[in-house]
Amino acid sequence: MTQMGPTELVVLLDVDNTLLDNDRILAALENDLADVLGAEHSERFWAIYEQVRAEFDFVNFPATIERFARECSDAACVGKVSAALYDFRFSEFLYPESLAAVQRVASFATPVILSDGDQLFQRHKIRASGLEDAVSGNVLVYVHKEQEVGDIRRRFPASHYAIVDDKPRIHAAMKAAMGEQLTGVMVCQGKYAHDPAHHDFPDADITIEGIAGLLALTAEELGPR
Ligand SMILES: [Mg+2]
Repeated sequence: MTQMGPTELVVLLDVDNTLLDNDRILAALENDLADVLGAEHSERFWAIYEQVRAEFDFVNFPATIERFARECSDAACVGKVSAALYDFRFSEFLYPESLAAVQRVASFATPVILSDGDQLFQRHKIRASGLEDAVSGNVLVYVHKEQEVGDIRRRFPASHYAIVDDKPRIHAAMKAAMGEQLTGVMVCQGKYAHDPAHHDFPDADITIEGIAGLLALTAEELGPR
């Protein structure tokens, strides 16, 4: 069996609900914004957030803040929203084993963050949580990452890829695009963990209960099958 070196295997790591507990982050942000803005303005903010998400087809905090700023009658509110979002304590919402799991992957492969979102706030979140440093700056953010396989391959050439993600839809799309060159690791965190409709994941090669499960996986298991 060939020993896989760092240039041969790239491990693509999702952020939201894979390394970072985004469900809890959104709940905490809701509380924080209700505290600093009061009920009326914070309800308006989240209504705009949903509106923007539907229009752009992804969570877009910069566009949400822009629209909120234009609408909000109280000028001080805009600064408060911006501060609450950009000063948020993201590093406290990493799953307990997230950084260890990234380090473990880095011992036998090149870990790359592969996240969906906007280039401002999503990147801020990845940096502020400590994840950007953990992957030595190897961060890719796309609006729809499953449509960017060509760009991913060009930026991080490798003979084999693994993807670690909590969304069955992403596994299906990536597998369709990359076939045998990809090993899929489904992480049963976030809403899929307790959804009885999602008990097997035909598009993933390996299923783990949480990100800590990555600590037990070897280069051979993540490599070509
Ligand atoms: Mg995710």
